[in-house]
Amino acid sequence: MDLTSLNLVETKKLLADKKASESEIVADYMQRIADLDPKIDSFLFVAQDTKSENPSGELGGIPIAHKDVFDTIGMPTTAASKILEGYTPEFDATSVAKLKEAGAVSLGKLNTDEFTMGASTETSAFKQTKNPWDLKRVPGGSSGGSAAAVAADLCVFATATDTGGSIRQPSSFCGVTGLKPTYGRISRYGVISMASSLDTIGVITKSVEDAAIALEVLAGQDSHDATTGKAKVEQYSKNLKTDLKGLKIGVAKEYFVEGLDAGVEKVIRAAIDELKKLGAEITEISLPHTEFAVPTYYVVASSEISANMARFDGVRYGPTVKNEEVENLVEMYFENRTRGFGDEVKRRIMLGTFALSAGYADKFYKKALQVRTLIKKDFDEAFKDIDLIAAPVAPTTAFKLGEKINDPVQMYLADIFTAPASLAGVPAISVPAGFSEKLPVGLQLIAPQFAEARLLGSAHAFQSATDYHLKKPQI
Ligand code: GLN
Repeated sequence: MDLTSLNLVETKKLLADKKASESEIVADYMQRIADLDPKIDSFLFVAQDTKSENPSGELGGIPIAHKDVFDTIGMPTTAASKILEGYTPEFDATSVAKLKEAGAVSLGKLNTDEFTMGASTETSAFKQTKNPWDLKRVPGGSSGGSAAAVAADLCVFATATDTGGSIRQPSSFCGVTGLKPTYGRISRYGVISMASSLDTIGVITKSVEDAAIALEVLAGQDSHDATTGKAKVEQYSKNLKTDLKGLKIGVAKEYFVEGLDAGVEKVIRAAIDELKKLGAEITEISLPHTEFAVPTYYVVASSEISANMARFDGVRYGPTVKNEEVENLVEMYFENRTRGFGDEVKRRIMLGTFALSAGYADKFYKKALQVRTLIKKDFDEAFKDIDLIAAPVAPTTAFKLGEKINDPVQMYLADIFTAPASLAGVPAISVPAGFSEKLPVGLQLIAPQFAEARLLGSAHAFQSATDYHLKKPQI
């Protein structure tokens, strides 16, 4: 049997029934990584002699991998940036520690856009991850390594982060399930920050049920992260539904606009029909400020990025200059940061510094915060009448490697349908919903804050009626 094709629920059962041992499963994954990852390039670091610290835990013996922005004891953590080359953390991110305590086995670290800034994983300083469905195309981003590794069966599930779409969009592009919970549902402690008021920790899995099990392990308040919520962690995996009777689902007209690819729209409309067949009542709604989400997001995110990136000086790690190469301390910082950061990171530091600078802060940063509030209110208003929103994840399927990397505005537009939920801090999920010209398309479901049980329950109903999440790429 091909052990690596199994999802979390199936692998757990296999281990519980003693049909395979942890070491056999891990060995199979390591072999598959050795055979296939040279084609996919999803791993930045592969662990050696890795094993569970709690084989009888909830995730005992389950091979997973982490996006390379999660601090991991003893494993290099680079954020796919040269400026962190050579950094090996001495502590685990809260989420890494929780997964470890639950018994998960970490296979290594996965590629991402540099400091998670991007929508294709092409801004990584180290390698270009390929989409397992078509090796000439991007896996999406920034969690492209996580999505590609799960799609290619190189791990059972992967951790990931979503600031403006980085879990949902690569999940859509790679035909896997991607959960971005409510902002603050999972601790950010030990995850390298991009934009702190937006950064959300989540998972990319092979099914909704798998995501529900992972969320039960990961969610909860953490004294190391003051933004984590007090809301009770529910038994998400026990609340999965098989129909949607009595559920009101809103479809916002602002998500079906020019720029939405016709093939993607067809898949999403068919998915919405499926939700209706499952018993949901579909109503048209309006989220009037949607068109401002991308500009608002890029002002807020870049402003926070310019502050967060200030701590990287290239002194202890990275392509540090030699003393004799520079005249003084300022020149040293300048040179280290020039060599250590890639173009996209530099672009955002400059945009953010400008948006926050004296004389412009009111015009850009403060204005963006006001519009962010309006976007949040759109969701509050909508959720007075409906339970869930159904939408596309991205306007297109996976684009070709190199197609958008030299056109930042085109790349930013990939976030048009994911940035709104990020700005509002509401949970959202991408589930495989079909194919357009042989490339996967994800359906996005969005719920009110902390309504993960409803979100996962409904997404599971969709998966129990469809088989798109079971399809595998030929690699
Ligand atoms: N594509 C978006 C950006 O480049 C989202 C990135 C993310 O969610 N980390 O900012």
